[in-house]
Amino acid sequence: MKIVLLGPPGSGKGTQANLICKKYDISHISTGDIFRTNIANGTALGKKAKEYIDAGSLVPDELTIKIVEDRLKQDDCKNGFVLDGFPRVRTQAEALSKMTQIDKAIMIDLDDEEIINRLSKRRMCRKCGNPTHLDNLINGYCEKCGGEVYTRADDAPEVIKQRLIKQKLPQDVVDFYKDLGLFEKINSTNSMEETFKLVDSILSGIKE
Ligand code: ADP
Ligand code: ZN
Repeated sequence: MKIVLLGPPGSGKGTQANLICKKYDISHISTGDIFRTNIANGTALGKKAKEYIDAGSLVPDELTIKIVEDRLKQDDCKNGFVLDGFPRVRTQAEALSKMTQIDKAIMIDLDDEEIINRLSKRRMCRKCGNPTHLDNLINGYCEKCGGEVYTRADDAPEVIKQRLIKQKLPQDVVDFYKDLGLFEKINSTNSMEETFKLVDSILSGIKE
C-alpha cells in the first residue's frame, strides 16, 4: 500500500500516518522529520534545510526530491509506505510519479483558524518524540512517557503565519491526483480516532 497524505500543517497528517503504518505495517516517511533529524545531527543537508524551515519556506526541490528518492529505495519501503509532507508542489508530485505508483492521495483538511489554534499549542516530547497538545500534558510533561516537552522552532506564531502563506497546498497538486483518479479528501475537525475511521474506510477500498 502506497499512500500520500496531503494537507496543511497541524491537520494531524503525522498522527494519521502513524495510525496507518501501525495497522498496515508499512513505513512512515515524513520529509519534515528527515530534515529535523539532519538539523539535529548537524549534517550538510540539515544546515541547508534549516534556513528555509526557520523562515517558514519550502526547502528547494533539489534537496527534497533526492531525500525521498533515496528513502523509497530502502528495504522497509518494499511493503509500502505513507508519505507525510511530500509532495507539496506539483514538481514534487511529478517526480514522485516517476519513482513509484501511488494507490491513493488523501487530503486531511482543516481551516486556518483551527490550524493556528493547534500549532500554537503543539508541543513535542524530547524523550519519545510524541507530538502532543498543551492541554494533554500531565503537570507539564509528556502524557505518554513523562518526558520533557518543547515547542518546535517553526511553531512560533510568526513562523506559523509564514508557513500558512508560503506553503498553501497548490491546486495543481490536487488536480494532479484528481486527474489520476486517486484523490480523496476528508475533514480533520473531529477526534483523531474519528478521522482515522474515515481514512481507513478509504484504505480498505484499495486492492493489494
Ligand atoms: P508541518 O506539516 O507541521 O508544517 P513538516 O514537519 O511536514 O511540518 O515540515 C517542516 C518543514 O520542513 C516545512 O515547513 C518545510 O520548510 C520543510 N519541508 C517538509 N517537507 C517538505 C517538502 N516536501 N518540500 C519542501 N519543504 C518541505
Ligand atoms: Zn514522551
